[in-house]
Amino acid sequence: MTWKTLDDMDLAGKIVLTRVDINVPVKDGAVTDATRITRIVPTIHDILAKGGKPVMLAHFGRPKGEYVPELSLKLTLPALREHLDCDVKFNEKPDRASLEAVPRGTAVLVENTRFAPGEEKNDPDMAAFLASLGDVYCNDAFSAAHRAHASTEGVAHLLPSCAGRLMEAELRALEAALGHPDRPLIAVVGGAKVSTKLALLGNLVEKVDHLFIGGGMANTFLAAEGIHVGKSLCEHDLAVTAREIMDKARGTDCTIHLPLDIVVAREFAAGAAHEVMGIDDCPEDGMILDAGPKTVAEFDSVLSNCRTLIWNGPLGAFEIEPFDTATVKAARAAAEATKSGRLISVAGGGDTVAALNHAGVAEDFTYVSTAGGAFLEWLEGKTLPGVAALQG
Ligand code: AMP
Repeated sequence: MTWKTLDDMDLAGKIVLTRVDINVPVKDGAVTDATRITRIVPTIHDILAKGGKPVMLAHFGRPKGEYVPELSLKLTLPALREHLDCDVKFNEKPDRASLEAVPRGTAVLVENTRFAPGEEKNDPDMAAFLASLGDVYCNDAFSAAHRAHASTEGVAHLLPSCAGRLMEAELRALEAALGHPDRPLIAVVGGAKVSTKLALLGNLVEKVDHLFIGGGMANTFLAAEGIHVGKSLCEHDLAVTAREIMDKARGTDCTIHLPLDIVVAREFAAGAAHEVMGIDDCPEDGMILDAGPKTVAEFDSVLSNCRTLIWNGPLGAFEIEPFDTATVKAARAAAEATKSGRLISVAGGGDTVAALNHAGVAEDFTYVSTAGGAFLEWLEGKTLPGVAALQG
């Protein structure tokens, strides 16, 4: 996979259309978490340093092709001005002349791309209009790259294009994890349901050496093996699918690891009375809410021989203590191995970032992707249109 980066582009005096993801949480008109904004800082900084004029294109919420005042990107301006080390001008109705008139050293934020009906339809006219605004296209929004929209895909074909710094970091981390990994490679897949992760599991069993299944979805696999899981979250109708995945793994060199012991409670509540049990011992009125200590020990032992880890989804109901125990212990073991240089660890998707933050180790992983859907589609082995359009 090859793509250009900002280092390959001549940006002096050029208008650089920069697709960013600043779809940040907002409450009462103010940004409540600026993480996404802080992550685009290196790209904007480097474009300015190379003499380019960054013109940010972004979506915000789901206005479905109509102007919705509360979804105006204007809301993000104070946070952008705080974090980007430059003046930021807002441009509601951009044209080439108005962008050229902006002084050097200033970044421009264009209004929500999804206010235009052509954005989500990837309308060629919209892509051509965007291309007419700039000289170079830089995509720094990996998290929006699974969507073929005018500002993420269409325009990339019409201008010299490159990846921004965040996109570059994301692609390199994912390449290192799944493209050309140091082996053995282990994937941890947890979370609530098998049904949302079928394609991902199907792809991973072909690529990884060890697949560690945890969380609610492990119950579906245990049930498929004839184990009683009581009142646990379980998709009994997916027993055949779970068995197919296990059969597929037997045909490749992938070892699937299911929980060896379980933590069982009678209610889904913080501090609920609970017991560690063997996998065969879940009572009819019990709920499996976490993996037990033997499972964590098994994870530690397998991990100690692995060189690369991909992680998506918690091993238990990590939001309610003490059912966060297996997730926290496993995350800390992975963080330690990463810090000691023995492991490349890449995590992302859904609640994974929250789980790693909860364990206090998100900073210690090699890379934590904040891209939800795009990260999962990558794990499914899909080609992301926004990434494919950058390839030259
Ligand atoms: P996902 O978004 O698919 O990654 O699922 C994450 C959710 O799965 C979290 O809210 C967890 O609380 C939940 N979860 C994980 N393990 C269990 C379990 N054993 N029983 C019920 N919910 C679980």
